[in-house]
Amino acid sequence: AMLANQIAAGEVVERPASVVKELVENSLDAGATEIEIAIEKGGHKRILIRDNGSGIAKDELELALSRHATSKISTLDDLEHIASLGFRGEALASISSVSRLTLTSKPADQDNAWQAHTEGRDQLVQIQPAAHPDGTSIDVEDLFFNTPARRKFLRAEKTEFMHIEEVVKRIALSHFGVQFVLKHNGKTIKRFAKASTDNQQQKRLAQICGNQFSDNLIALNSAYQDIKLDGWVTLSAQENNAQAVNFFYINGRVMRDKLIFHALKQACFEHTGLEQLPDFVLYLHIDPEQIDVNVHPAKHEVRFHQSRIVHDFVYRAMCDAFTQTPE
Ligand code: ADP
Ligand code: MG
Repeated sequence: AMLANQIAAGEVVERPASVVKELVENSLDAGATEIEIAIEKGGHKRILIRDNGSGIAKDELELALSRHATSKISTLDDLEHIASLGFRGEALASISSVSRLTLTSKPADQDNAWQAHTEGRDQLVQIQPAAHPDGTSIDVEDLFFNTPARRKFLRAEKTEFMHIEEVVKRIALSHFGVQFVLKHNGKTIKRFAKASTDNQQQKRLAQICGNQFSDNLIALNSAYQDIKLDGWVTLSAQENNAQAVNFFYINGRVMRDKLIFHALKQACFEHTGLEQLPDFVLYLHIDPEQIDVNVHPAKHEVRFHQSRIVHDFVYRAMCDAFTQTPE
């Protein structure tokens, strides 16, 4: 019950980037392998997400737009698992209540696409036939048009787009099998091709983290009991004033955790004598029962039940990776 309340308390729509995050996560949940994100004016004016996922059947369009107990949760196990990823069954409803939203979708087994349109809270959902390939488009226009107080908090177009870019990078680094295209004001800003081979993965790493990172990769792959750590670190990227690369995923979600960062720093110090974080893209996999995640979408906090073990495991895994690699 506590979990359910925490979930209900989640505030979904904070800024355009949070809309992008929720919608892209829905596309991924729907099994999409191609996702296009088209932004206008930093998302103030328009956020359009198209995917080639499983689609939404005509008679489920209205339900998808209403606040509901998500169908993605069926058992308590699921709930704990899903809580760590932040699914709450209210993203579309929340977004549609503060924007003009058009949802167009076609499941592969349906002959035609159908479209639902809403304008803010208390509006009836209108449903009409439409043309659309298999998959879903969600078009969010005039975000916060009916909540001026929140609209006031929107930052400059450039700032909001920067946040969106950050969200897309984070997701792209944990879904190499999916193609992402990010556009701003009609111009393609990022195109991440589907990356299955090591070379293709390295290319995506270069696009997102820079060549200095991708040219100096040290691969990690460690396990202790049922905790796993894999991904990449580099030690040399920071020499040339490159931007820090800090992506640490815990069960698929980026976290900034003091304990983990301490372990990374300590391993770096052990190896180089420098008190700094290395650059890293790392994925920790741990039994969801071993952690508490603060599911507020704006927070990225986690508490490990056995923090000492996790800390020492991460430290050891990093030290091993550094020593195996000639400098
Ligand atoms: P949740 O993801 O927690 O279920 P959302 O409000 O984010 O809740 O989405 C509501 C529902 O709409 C989803 O459960 C899913 O059935 C459907 N849906 C949303 N986006 C998509 C999409 N891109 N493709 C297929 N179905 C979708
Ligand atoms: Mg969702």
